This record gives sequence, C-alpha cells and structure tokens, in this order.
Amino acid sequence: MEKLSDRDKKHLWHPLTQHKTAEAPIGIVKAKDALIWDEEGKAYIDGIASWYTAMYGHCNEFITAAITEQMSQLDFVMFSGFTHAPAVELSEQLMKILPDNQAKIFFNDNGSTAVEAAIKMGLQFYHNKGEKRDTLIAFEGGFHGDTFGAMSASGLSSYNGPFEDFLLKVERIPVPNEENIEEVLQLLESIYRNNKCAAFVFEPLVQGAAGMKFHAAKELDKLINSCHEAGILCIADEIMTGFGKTGKNFASDYLAHKPDIICLSKALTAGMFPLSITSCSQNVFEAFLSDEVSKGFFHAHTFSAHPLGCAAALAGLKLLSSKEILERRKYIEDEHKNFVSTLENHPKVKEARSIGVILAIDLNLKTDRYGKLRDELYRFFMDNGVNLRPLGNTIYVLPPYVITNEQLEKIYDSIHLALATF
Ligand SMILES: *Cc1c(COP(=O)(O)O)cnc(C)c1O
Repeated sequence: MEKLSDRDKKHLWHPLTQHKTAEAPIGIVKAKDALIWDEEGKAYIDGIASWYTAMYGHCNEFITAAITEQMSQLDFVMFSGFTHAPAVELSEQLMKILPDNQAKIFFNDNGSTAVEAAIKMGLQFYHNKGEKRDTLIAFEGGFHGDTFGAMSASGLSSYNGPFEDFLLKVERIPVPNEENIEEVLQLLESIYRNNKCAAFVFEPLVQGAAGMKFHAAKELDKLINSCHEAGILCIADEIMTGFGKTGKNFASDYLAHKPDIICLSKALTAGMFPLSITSCSQNVFEAFLSDEVSKGFFHAHTFSAHPLGCAAALAGLKLLSSKEILERRKYIEDEHKNFVSTLENHPKVKEARSIGVILAIDLNLKTDRYGKLRDELYRFFMDNGVNLRPLGNTIYVLPPYVITNEQLEKIYDSIHLALATF
C-alpha cells in the first residue's frame, strides 16, 4: 500500500502551506491520551494538544462514549425553530462557570466564525440603536481567525497580506504593559474620540499566534474600563485561553471589568468536534429585541449547536473541574514554573515565561515566522518524538492536561537538547 504522505500529494491542499517547497506531511494513523502515531509506527508526544484542543487527551473514552450515546439518540437537527437537550444543558452548564455578566449563548461552528459573529453582534448592536459605529479596535499582533471580520481584527501580516484592501475598519493599539499603559490609554481615547468605535476585540492575557505573548490583567482592565466608559463593547477572544489554560477557567476570570462578549472554541469540545460559541451579556442581547424582525441577529451556520459537539463539550466540562484534572493542571503549572527557572540566564534564551499550563521560550536566535531555522527546530523536535511547533523563534508547550510526568519531562529534555544543538 502506498504511504498516506505520498497519496496525499495527489489531491490535497493543506492549510498554512507553500506546496512548492513544503516537505510532505506526516501520515497520522492513531492517537491516544498525549500520544499520536505516524504510519511508520513512530510515536510523538502531542506537546501542543493539537492546537490546544485535545486537553483531556486524544480518544478520551469518557468523551467518545458521550458522543456515541448522543449519536444514537439524536444525530443532528437544525437549530432554527428547533432546540435540543445537549444545547440547553450546555448553555446551563456554561453559565455556571462563565463570568457573571454573561447571559446568552450563540452557537457557531469554528473559532473564526465565533469571532465573526461577535463582530457582527458588536456592529449591529449600534445599528439597532440607530447609531452608526463603523470602527473596531484591536491589539497589534493579535490573531482572531481567517474569515474576513476575524482577519480584520487580526494584526499578523503573514496571514492578511493579500487581503488588506478588503478588510473592515480597524484601529490598532499596542499591547499594554506597566511602562506604556498611560500612552496606550491616551492613544485609545484619541482613537475613540476621532472614530465611531463599536467594539474592542482582544485575546485576554495571552496572544497565542503572536508567540504566546503575555500581558497583565491589571493593564487590560484599564483598557476595558476606558472602552466601557465610551460605550464600546469589549469582545474577549478566549478561543485559545478558555477552559483552564491560564490556570483559571477563563482568562477573563482574572479581570475586574468583564467583557461583554466572549468567543469560545478549540478545547470547548476537547478536540473531538468543530463547534464554537459566542456568549454575550443581557445588555447586548436586548439590543436585538424589537417588534421589527430585521433587528434580530440574522446570522446562522448550518451546523449551529451540533448535538454531537454539544455532547462532547458537556463531557469535557465535567472533566475540566474533576479532581483528577485539577490536580494535573496544578502539577503542569508547577513544573512549567520550575522549568522556566532553569532557563534563567541561559545564553540562548531571551525570555522564558509561563502562565497556567502555557509555557513559552523566546530564543536569542533570528528567524522568520516561517523561516528556515524555525522549520529545522520543528523537524528537530519531531525527530525527537515531540510535537512542538515553534512560532518563529518562540518555542511553546501547551500539553494535554492528561500528559504523564515522564512525557512532560521528555518535552523539557528535548527543549534543553534543542538549546544545546542550535
Ligand atoms: C485558533 C484561534 C482562532 C480561530 O479559530 P479557527 O477554529 O481556527 O477558525 C481565533 N482566535 C484565537 C485566539 C485562536 O487561537
């Protein structure tokens, strides 16, 4: 039988890939817990939980059982005019853990469409009130997805280049820190004095695709507070940070001023199913209530609130707060902190940092986001049996909560080895 990686070439077009120069993808045939296996039988530790989705481990039996049971009861039904138990229960369970100001759950089918819905909610919120607000505010270097609205809010030119002329109107501010916060606040105020701003879109505390860059809740709080004073809706993109990654259920839990709208996906369904949520406050929802039909939110995806995705999410939520997973989360958090301390003053490390189960190491090496050195680092880790995908010169680890102590140790060892090699 011809190898998957060879057969792949004939008809497949992969995401984020320059097919003229890219190496053949690795054929994956099996996954369990923190491991994935290729078609040659080689095992890899999934050090980034397959883009931070499979947090309870691959093929988690508690979750596959929940999906299987749901599949034989009600596979799918459209969500316009109908409702179903998995969606109702998921909304009830999420409300118990989302910030107190969240009141409504709107379903989409992936991260980008969650952000897209959030932006449209923000724009229509003011349209419905008879006020024209046409500008968004977003951070430099943010990432919010690849559909047009989400792309507009994103500030990474490697993805947006060809489309820049076609994007929504967005004003950008630097990510705040202790030193620049007053300047950023002033810039923010001048932006909303000179533009009609509807919403501020941000990844709270951790900018994932930018290279796992952190900022403090204290400064973000000041920006949110300032936006709220100007009536600007705050949209927290928690697609990466949600469901325990930063040490709390949501990064917004660190904030005193809560976002009006929150986007969730990725670990929402434990990596088992594409599904996403845009939750919002009662205030946002009420702006859509009217005797005029057209003031409703006329936005839908065929697979909204897919029962199988909801079943996976409900099972995932049970695990998230289970004693076993809470202990693992704490263990990983402590180990990351120890590892960061071993890298202090390392000549090849510019900065190492961690929050919750997210660990990031900026190397003292120059490479482009998709540069040669970055590719060599990726290859090095894969050869060592570890799936880590450096973002430019930032190596990051975001392991499934169920990773074993030995597997986590092996990831750290492979990073030390990489630092000694490159
Ligand atoms: C992954 C991600 C998205 C986009 O989600 P997709 O499901 O890939 O469309 C948006 N925002 C953040 C913060 C993400 O990590």
